[in-house]
Amino acid sequence: MSRALYFGLSGQGHLNPSIGLVKELVGRGEEIIYYGGDENQAKILKSGAQFRSLGFKKSRQDKREIQALLNPLERENRLLRYVARTLPMVLNQVKEEKIDYIIFDTQFVLGKMIAEQLRLPSISFCTTLAFSEKVRERIQGRRLEFTPDPALLEERRRLRESIQNQYRFSFPESIMFNTGDITLVCTSDYFQPDDGSFPDTFKFIGPSIVDRYDTGDFPIDKLKDRRVIYISMGTVVNEQPELYSHCLKAFADLEAWVVLSIGQKLNPEDLGPIPANFIVGNHVPQLEVLQHTDVFITHGGMNSTMEALYNNVPLVLNPIGADQPVVAKRVERLGAGLILDKSELNPFGLRKAVNAILEDEKYAVNASKIGDSLRRTGGYRQGADEIFALKKLKSIL
Ligand code: UDP
Repeated sequence: MSRALYFGLSGQGHLNPSIGLVKELVGRGEEIIYYGGDENQAKILKSGAQFRSLGFKKSRQDKREIQALLNPLERENRLLRYVARTLPMVLNQVKEEKIDYIIFDTQFVLGKMIAEQLRLPSISFCTTLAFSEKVRERIQGRRLEFTPDPALLEERRRLRESIQNQYRFSFPESIMFNTGDITLVCTSDYFQPDDGSFPDTFKFIGPSIVDRYDTGDFPIDKLKDRRVIYISMGTVVNEQPELYSHCLKAFADLEAWVVLSIGQKLNPEDLGPIPANFIVGNHVPQLEVLQHTDVFITHGGMNSTMEALYNNVPLVLNPIGADQPVVAKRVERLGAGLILDKSELNPFGLRKAVNAILEDEKYAVNASKIGDSLRRTGGYRQGADEIFALKKLKSIL
């Protein structure tokens, strides 16, 4: 039995795929100490891992906060400030402990730094697409849409320099993509763009679909007798009442059930009268709902996209930021969905896109092709196999 630390990020998109892997490792006798956000504590404990708090602060997502989250420079500086504060605390906690290897979320440079400080084998767990040079260029292209604020640039330089000097750590150009001795990528090589350009330390293990036991009293059986449109903007930037109102107008008279997940920050009452064919919730059992869905309107978060395609569901995409534009483009390129232009974010545009997908079966056929590739991967079991292979290579018992 080995003992490992896991460094996870807060959003459900980071947490959900990691839970399958952690459960599998614990099931194989590993002891996992999971450093994560407080709001995830219950789920982490349920996976069989031990929990330690990383003290992330949750902020209300007003317009300013959303802008800040979408500005890559601001995000990087926040992360650097956080690393400077937290790294000494974690190192202090673990210095007397026996630890065999480290798993970290690919976007969480703190985990990579700890692995390097402790000179331990590392596994990077990538819950989004892997960034080849080409993908990185595309994301960098988006960076340029922001006029870099000189004060933020200067702060970034200062923070990087001070951390590098103190810990002899050399930051990669993008601190949002950190590789390990192996990097487990939660998609198939078919869905991954430029899949030929990765070294064989990259393992495409696909999504980890595990029962979340979150159906609760959701009327899932109701979805069996009509077509289903499902709408969710994920769990991070989901405070979008205007978009939800457009959906209410667009689909009120459609001969279909419309499931609308509005996130934890809004109340269904905020949206005004709800048409009879709508089921609105703060959180819905997405994996179950997707099993009955004909079209999914999504922000193109990696998990939502993978979960939908795993169930052969074609997509209407409204990417907001981060990796979503790249994920959305890949879906469109493979013919499994349509990206909404900003000018189409109204009832007419939404209805048109959904109708286009319902009326042309090529979208569903292409979604199934991706679905086949995802179902061929081994998910969390393959992830655990790869970790055990690395342990063997590094002579960890
Ligand atoms: N999710 C869910 N129910 C909801 C909304 C979201 O179970 O009502 C889950 C979804 O299945 C996915 C995750 O939350 O696993 C969202 O991750 P994604 O990467 O799509 O987006 P993010 O929240 O990171 O923007």
